[in-house]
Amino acid sequence: MVDVAIIGGGAAGLAAAISAGDHIVDLHQAVRICLLDGARTLGAKILVSGGGRCNVTHDVVTPKDFFGNRHIVRNVLAAFSVEQTIAWFTSFGVELKREETGKMFPTTDKARTVLNALLARARDSGVTLCPDHRVTEITRSESGFEIQHNSGVLHAARLILATGGRSLPKTGSDGFGYRLARSFGHHVTSTVPALVPLVLDRSMFHATLSGLSHDVELTTLVDGREVDQRTGSLLWTHFGISGPVVMDASRFWTLATNRGTRVDLYGHFVPGRSADELKDWFVRQTVEHPKRSLVRTLSLLVPDRFAESLCGSCSCDPLKILAQVSRTDRNRLLSALTRFRFPVEGHRGWNFAEVTAGGVPLEEIDYRTMESKLTSGLYLAGELLDCDGRIGGFNFQWAWTTGWLAGRSAARSLLAEDALPRSL
Ligand SMILES: Cc1cc2nc3c(=O)[nH]c(=O)nc-3n(C[C@H](O)[C@H](O)[C@H](O)COP(=O)(O)OP(=O)(O)OC[C@H]3O[C@@H](n4cnc5c(N)ncnc54)[C@H](O)[C@@H]3O)c2cc1C
Repeated sequence: MVDVAIIGGGAAGLAAAISAGDHIVDLHQAVRICLLDGARTLGAKILVSGGGRCNVTHDVVTPKDFFGNRHIVRNVLAAFSVEQTIAWFTSFGVELKREETGKMFPTTDKARTVLNALLARARDSGVTLCPDHRVTEITRSESGFEIQHNSGVLHAARLILATGGRSLPKTGSDGFGYRLARSFGHHVTSTVPALVPLVLDRSMFHATLSGLSHDVELTTLVDGREVDQRTGSLLWTHFGISGPVVMDASRFWTLATNRGTRVDLYGHFVPGRSADELKDWFVRQTVEHPKRSLVRTLSLLVPDRFAESLCGSCSCDPLKILAQVSRTDRNRLLSALTRFRFPVEGHRGWNFAEVTAGGVPLEEIDYRTMESKLTSGLYLAGELLDCDGRIGGFNFQWAWTTGWLAGRSAARSLLAEDALPRSL
């Protein structure tokens, strides 16, 4: 029997455990907190995050950085801000540094620093960490919750569900948590991979550009209606496209495809310059440098390897001099340069997705406490919820904030009820 059980030892679960422990200590009470995780080693996703450096948060976090009910997101974020998060990490020895993009990393540039500090802090807060404890079923009991796991049964007065989503299932986040949430009457909206690279038709030229990245403006149209437009770095790969701008846009593609809706992704390879401006520029170039080759001219706008591939895809000889380029060819090239339809065949799947779009609707939780509106004593946190952030540290911020809030609320509710010491 414990007072607070946390299911899931990822970012949200660890934040919840530490927060619960700290708030109990603040109130001079003793309480038993137990964190169960099905994985043999805790925090695997933290270790691989940010290319092994863990992009802990971002220096500016606003509701616009997230997809989900933004009114609720705003209220949740306000409860544990970036400033509080940075101070919280500093309090247990993790100094963060800001990079030019606003992303915040540990000064050691090692995700291990973050994970070790969280685990040590959780233990110091009196949390019993139980890896290799896969939860299979949870039911309501007289004392609160009865938790079946692979080594037996645990009873808890309060339960925090932080089982993550479905991204990178080998870390233990395989979507089973949704079933646990459903068993308490919660809904789960369709879940699709987000922040995931996209696969292009094999006949495209992407493989020849593998490793090249440059700035592109991406526009997503669902059923002919523009739903997203963003500019950033696109990375060409052997299978298709990746890089921050593609990862951020991918959720619109996966969501629409999952619904069976038509979705088109267009690229503008000279962001910030309109098609008309580029046409005028091209005409001027033709007048001023008639003997310059097509590829050399286009290389003034885009990387030369890409310029060459684009010429090829438009059936234009890249070495042709400008004076010999027909108006039809010029217009075809300009159109490919400014409104290039990517032949997207699919996405790379859950093993390559950084996050899950969809989950338990935010409307089903009390945003002041993260408590379920359907089951008292049950709290939900992290990626399990229907909220996903863009790339840049926002998903971890969501996990820290919701976890911290759930831990604090669970601890406070126990004390408010004067239910202690029940388990000691
Ligand atoms: C490759 C990669 C890189 C990323 N990089 C970044 C980054 O740099 N910055 C950023 O902000 N975000 C990043 N993310 C996203 C971020 O890691 C997640 O949003 C975040 O970890 C979610 O935290 P969570 O605690 O909600 O879920 P998770 O971290 O998924 O943790 C859930 C835990 O629950 C456990 N669990 C699940 N089911 C059960 C069960 N039935 N019984 C017991 N335990 C269970 C799992 O084993 C797991 O440990 C990255 C993701 C990936 C995949």
